[in-house]
Amino acid sequence: MTFDATLAGIAKQAWDVMEEIGHLTGTKQAGITRPCYGEGEQLAAERVTAFARDLGLALQPDRYGNLHVIVPGSDPQARAIMTGSHLDSVPGGGNYDGLAGVMAGLAVAAAALRSGGHRRGIHAVAMRGEESPWFGTAYVGSRLMLGHSTLAEISGLRRIDSGRTLQDHLDDLGLADAPEMPISRDTVAGFLELHIEQGPLLTAAALPVGIATDIRGNIRYPEARCLGEYGHSAALPRAFRHDAVLAVAELALAFERFWEETEQRDPSCVFTMGKFGTDPATHAMTKVPGEVRFSFNVGSIREDVIAEADALLARLLDSIAQRRGVRFEMGPRFGSMPSHLDAALVAAVEGAAGALGIGCTHLATVGHDAAMFHQAGIPASVILVRNANGSHNPAESMTEADFVRGARVLGGAALRAAA
Ligand SMILES: [Zn+2]
Repeated sequence: MTFDATLAGIAKQAWDVMEEIGHLTGTKQAGITRPCYGEGEQLAAERVTAFARDLGLALQPDRYGNLHVIVPGSDPQARAIMTGSHLDSVPGGGNYDGLAGVMAGLAVAAAALRSGGHRRGIHAVAMRGEESPWFGTAYVGSRLMLGHSTLAEISGLRRIDSGRTLQDHLDDLGLADAPEMPISRDTVAGFLELHIEQGPLLTAAALPVGIATDIRGNIRYPEARCLGEYGHSAALPRAFRHDAVLAVAELALAFERFWEETEQRDPSCVFTMGKFGTDPATHAMTKVPGEVRFSFNVGSIREDVIAEADALLARLLDSIAQRRGVRFEMGPRFGSMPSHLDAALVAAVEGAAGALGIGCTHLATVGHDAAMFHQAGIPASVILVRNANGSHNPAESMTEADFVRGARVLGGAALRAAA
């Protein structure tokens, strides 16, 4: 049997296990919840480990709970081709975000184990904590594995829902004596990640698979505040007000204008204030709002647009604060620069899709673990699989047929890169 036929068969089994993990970690109505270093993520890790064992692959945890297996190639000196994605989900998210790439990566490794013939080793990985709602920062597992942060630097971060530190949650896993398994460009020649598309573009184009050419960078403030002054809604004339809602609304609308002006030259630009709220303990219909908590998140694949957004933000915070007599406390800043994915790997994916007769197109994408590999100097590429209902919500959708197509493209590209 050919590698592709073997892979297609294993991918169907992987789909069934993925559906099972979905039932274990969520419901159709409430969505999937697999917290970073929490119960759902651990359930997924255990089920994935058992499935891999059935396929003849012994997954090894590293010290940070990421799971690894390497199927050696014919040249033990050659650097490996790595593939995989993340086990966690956002609260109330979809089943395929992350997990599809883990399962497809394992299927590729298992098919390589049965078929042989690859020069480079195939290294499959299941990573922890890619989603940012848990610790306020994304890519926890891949960040540690790739050495972008040391454990000492981030061990004190608190998980937003549990209030416990990253170190506390890691201690639950009991992996202090597990090997570190650092990943670098000295051991890995390329990283391929299959991921569900998180927008509507593939469905609109009636194509099952996309190739990401760039990953958006962003500027993010997850916990910003604007402080004005509470006052009587009827007694206080406009000139005396320090209205925090209007101040943050002005910031939001100014950024929407920036976005409209930028869209033409940069369709990848996005802007979101996903959190925006007055304090229920002190707000009232009859009070001028004295405080707003909000998040700020602007992204683009272009460095110049990120820099423009940054400068605009600084100007606006200053001018709005002065004019309205409010104060902005932006809190911790996160973000990353855009990543331009590797042209040779993009060509390998394109070649694989073409050879399999699977239609695909180029897209920009959002942050994935692949960005961490790219930033470590490891050539990276992302294969996107069609999703009719967007991501980070319970309605996220993928068909088995599209998953198998995506896995076959991933396998074909991995073989080309490993030749
Ligand atoms: Zn993801």
